[in-house]
Amino acid sequence: MTFQDLHLQPALLRAVGAIGYTQPTPIQAAAIGPILRGKDLIGCAQTGTGKTAAFAIPILQRLRTNPKHFPIRALVLTPTRELALQIQENFTQYGQFLPLRSTVIFGGVGQGPQVQALAQGVDILVATPGRLNDLCNQGHIDLSGLEIFVLDEADRMLDMGFIHDVRKVIARLPQKRQTLLFSATMPKEIAELAKSILRNPIRVEVTPQSSTVEAIRQQVYKVDKGNKKLLLTHLLRTRNDPSVLVFTNTKHGANRVAEMLTKSGIPAMAIHGNKSQSARVTALENFKSGAIRVLVATDIAARGIDVNDLACVINYELPNVPETYVHRIGRTGRAGRSGIAISFCNYDELAYLRDIERLIGKAVPVVEEHPWPMEISKTQATKTPPPKASGTKPQAPKISERQVTPVLPAAKAELAVFLAGTGKPNPVGTKENTASQPPKTVRRALRSDPWVPGRVVAFADGRHRNRKTPK
Ligand code: AMP
Repeated sequence: MTFQDLHLQPALLRAVGAIGYTQPTPIQAAAIGPILRGKDLIGCAQTGTGKTAAFAIPILQRLRTNPKHFPIRALVLTPTRELALQIQENFTQYGQFLPLRSTVIFGGVGQGPQVQALAQGVDILVATPGRLNDLCNQGHIDLSGLEIFVLDEADRMLDMGFIHDVRKVIARLPQKRQTLLFSATMPKEIAELAKSILRNPIRVEVTPQSSTVEAIRQQVYKVDKGNKKLLLTHLLRTRNDPSVLVFTNTKHGANRVAEMLTKSGIPAMAIHGNKSQSARVTALENFKSGAIRVLVATDIAARGIDVNDLACVINYELPNVPETYVHRIGRTGRAGRSGIAISFCNYDELAYLRDIERLIGKAVPVVEEHPWPMEISKTQATKTPPPKASGTKPQAPKISERQVTPVLPAAKAELAVFLAGTGKPNPVGTKENTASQPPKTVRRALRSDPWVPGRVVAFADGRHRNRKTPK
């Protein structure tokens, strides 16, 4: 199928051609026609499938002209500022040859410029729910003439606790409208919301989770926590991906990794919820323009990051929610391009890896040959602080379960020999100089092994053998 087959206007065909899209993605092929015919629609798709164009292109075609730019005719509600910015940017690209105006509003920044833009008149408004309700309450926004409403990433709205705000927005909309709802998953609450706001919707489903995952080359490096920094700098130095998105689980972690990379001479910035909006926008712009090669992000901040040709995603830490892994790696390999997702996994994260593999239905190939293979067992990983990453050599493991366990069977074997009567007495003059006593190593092993036959440690009724039983 081509974009011509979708009966798009010349202005839109010219725009998609100028951007370099050669053919519609599956969600576009399925959704554009029904939206153009005015149908309500539920789209089960996540970012990376081309879903923004799937709704933006037909919306632009339906609105086509509006000389006064009043009232607002289309509203796109989306959970994060980054997504909102991204969607508006896409509207601008796809509508570059149409006389329509769009603007974007979100919280965390002064409302002045947003209010000004609204006052000049807009056809398409992209908004996050909080700021939208705020500006509606102040009388800056009139939605009474709205024709098309898009609820984007509905499941994330729910996850992020915005569903109440979303309901408030819906209450402001005219009853007669076209509604499009997009959600990667369909939890009960969203299915119920969909039922209440959509009329005879067309359901369009693409299978992004597995198909996205299949298009992406995945690798896992098993590495000790303390050596992750060294492995990261090593990979960034030896790989030549032009832009790399690194995920950490925490905001502090993102800061630390970005600082460490910058100190090592690899330009990097962090993006997370504690950064001001302008810092986030700057980091994103620097990343997109190639001014910095590495962006270190937390999950929430990374939503909506849409960087063409993002060749590599690195999970510095594995997420404990397997679906998050799928979202993270979906930042690369977008719209059919190739991509690689590399994950670092330390001992404590092995369980997360198993959950991820269960979700994606296959094992993530392990890179065995690398300079910092995992050496720490659970005992160390949980009881002792991770070794300081220093020098270039991997850290030698300290005492671990692996080292302790073989001692005991050896001692037991020695005991067996002793009990069989072949044990040699210790040299004269030492404390152990008696044939009736087992050798020292064996006695030590006996003390630590409660399961040597004939040794009573505790009775079934709870009495200890050294304790006097009450009469
Ligand atoms: P989205 O799922 O809307 O976040 O889009 C993911 C990426 O796919 C964006 O970089 C879009 O520019 C790109 N994209 C969308 N539609 C197409 C298409 N038909 N051909 C190639 N790339 C596309």
